[in-house]
Amino acid sequence: MNKERKLIIAGNWKMNKTVAEALDLVRGLKIELTNVKEVDIVVCPPFTALAEASKAILDTNIRLGAQNMSEHNVGAYTGEIAAVMLKEFSVRFVILGHSERRQYQKESDALIAKKALAVHAAALKPIICVGETLAEREAGQMQQVLETQVRGSLAGLPKEQMLETILAYEPVWAIGTGKTATTAQAQEAHAFIRSLLGKMFDDAVARRVRIQYGGSVKPSNAKELMSQPDVDGALVGGAALEVRSFADIIKSSI
Ligand code: PEP
Repeated sequence: MNKERKLIIAGNWKMNKTVAEALDLVRGLKIELTNVKEVDIVVCPPFTALAEASKAILDTNIRLGAQNMSEHNVGAYTGEIAAVMLKEFSVRFVILGHSERRQYQKESDALIAKKALAVHAAALKPIICVGETLAEREAGQMQQVLETQVRGSLAGLPKEQMLETILAYEPVWAIGTGKTATTAQAQEAHAFIRSLLGKMFDDAVARRVRIQYGGSVKPSNAKELMSQPDVDGALVGGAALEVRSFADIIKSSI
């Protein structure tokens, strides 16, 4: 597949995998994906497995991501993790604003925007998730919801930082449900987000920023989704928990 933007495929492990299980998974991926250069490969284990996973992927083509980060640098924030702590383990990416955090932790666009600035201040790259619920889609509000989330979550981000930001379009109704957006639905939403970036920043930003698709991506649908002109990779949940399925998603996308 020959695209202007390099594909980036990230596995969001969520609250899965002990350290031993995480090591099994990354060791398996290392073997399976050793020759892949065409795709940026990222794994996002839980915080507790970052240290060991980081050692296991040293000097490989697999990069490390975290699933969340505090907007604060240090201090009395029980249960939170700061950028400097992630950097100790060579974390490069941080998922922000996943719909599960928006839903369960009530994270707002304004908070996500603050976190995005903190991620960039630490020279890490945020993967910022946006997406509509089924009710919003059925009410014809998809574009409005995406525009509010994109504008709100990127508020205050200068152009240089936007270029180092990855967006993930994840329709909430497709996450963990086995329902994938059709390629046409994914492409439509991605094209909309890209045109919005053009309005908010400029054409160069719109052309260069990578937008991942997320929502029940699996080996059987990855190739078709990745072949859409505005789909630049995937954020994978369930299928990222097994070596075979995650490796096959990546290989079939090349
Ligand atoms: C996700 O949680 O980001 C996700 C896309 O999950 P799944 O692939 O399981 O739908």
